[in-house]
Amino acid sequence: MTGTWLIRGARPLGGEPTSIVVRDGLIDRIGAATKPAGAQVIGADGLIALPGLVDLHTHLREPGREDAETVETGTQAAALGGFTAVHAMANTDPVADTAGVVEQIWRLGRQAGHCDVHPVGAVTVGLGGTRLAELGAMADSAARVRVFSDDGRCVSDAVLMRRALEYVKAFGGVIAQHAQEPRLTDGAQLNEGEMSARLGLTGWPAVAEEAIIARDCLLAAHVGSALHVCHVSTAGSVEIIRWAKGKGWRVTAEVTPHHLLLTDSLAASYDPVYKVNPPLRTAADVAALREGLADGTIDCVATDHAPHPVEDKETEWDTAAFGMTGLETALRVVQEAMVDTGLLDWAGVADRMSRRPAVIGRLPGAGGELAAGQPASLTLYDPTARDTVNPATHASRSRNSPFTGMDLPGRVVATFLRGTPTVLDGKIA
Ligand SMILES: [Zn+2]
Repeated sequence: MTGTWLIRGARPLGGEPTSIVVRDGLIDRIGAATKPAGAQVIGADGLIALPGLVDLHTHLREPGREDAETVETGTQAAALGGFTAVHAMANTDPVADTAGVVEQIWRLGRQAGHCDVHPVGAVTVGLGGTRLAELGAMADSAARVRVFSDDGRCVSDAVLMRRALEYVKAFGGVIAQHAQEPRLTDGAQLNEGEMSARLGLTGWPAVAEEAIIARDCLLAAHVGSALHVCHVSTAGSVEIIRWAKGKGWRVTAEVTPHHLLLTDSLAASYDPVYKVNPPLRTAADVAALREGLADGTIDCVATDHAPHPVEDKETEWDTAAFGMTGLETALRVVQEAMVDTGLLDWAGVADRMSRRPAVIGRLPGAGGELAAGQPASLTLYDPTARDTVNPATHASRSRNSPFTGMDLPGRVVATFLRGTPTVLDGKIA
């Protein structure tokens, strides 16, 4: 299926239209080209060509919650969103805390073949927060795990966090922290502020996130290791990360599409589709997150795609599960929040959604340039398309998109993974 392809009229990183020849899994040539013998032609007039997107933060739910998502459906959703690699979070059942489980997920990803699946290893056994998991064995496994996270839970014990940061230095790993001080968020439901007070929902203060980020930046600096901050959601967090980066410390950070576009005012509907961890914040936080992503303080966009079946989501607010789907809308939301507002150009989008997440995830061969000789993992995107988000049309097994009914720009037309189309004409190839 790799074969030879001539992509005509595409605009690499939003630049001038040109031709891209794909052959034997590689970008063979960019520039004026006659049709190579036997090539299949894709008319791509007006489409933006981007390097295949890389997600540092996806919940594929398999093993254990195949009613919410499977590796097959989740990676289809990823490909349809323009992604060629995803990191699968460890909070599965069983938890991905051993070489055996991470290898199982890695193999399921290879079998599905829609995009690369890189399992994230748990930091602590069973996400229990008391004992370090077998980080070295997961790193040495066939899955070659480099990113470790208890995501869904915070590694709140400072001693354990320190030891984890020290441990991963041996193999160049990174600890991705879900920053949530548990005592400050006991029973918390919504950003602590005017909205939570008005709606009578238990508040989730910004300081619960910021205190952990500040502590972990200091710990990472103290032991000389690499910290990645998951789903930054407050203006204060951006300031702390800017300060830590200014010191030259090895701190990176991600923001989700939903935190770039949505605010806690949506909770006025009491619709739990807007319930997420960390919670939606205020318009001032959204502005600071956009600015932080634009100036590079926040390195990348990560989806935190968190599928849930209807019965876990369509209940009272207090009992509903936290989380939103996001793979199939991520690039469209980034266009709406960052490109159409003039904050990022398409080269910037490629940097924040492909190059930098690949560097943070330690993925050689992903996030490369669109250049001859590079692996042909790329996405063709129509920025002029517009339509209303309808999760019934999505490949994800779950329907909990907070963008449902919103009119958003853009459409992923095609995705190539090392020269093989995974999506053509907006459908799974
Ligand atoms: Zn999380």
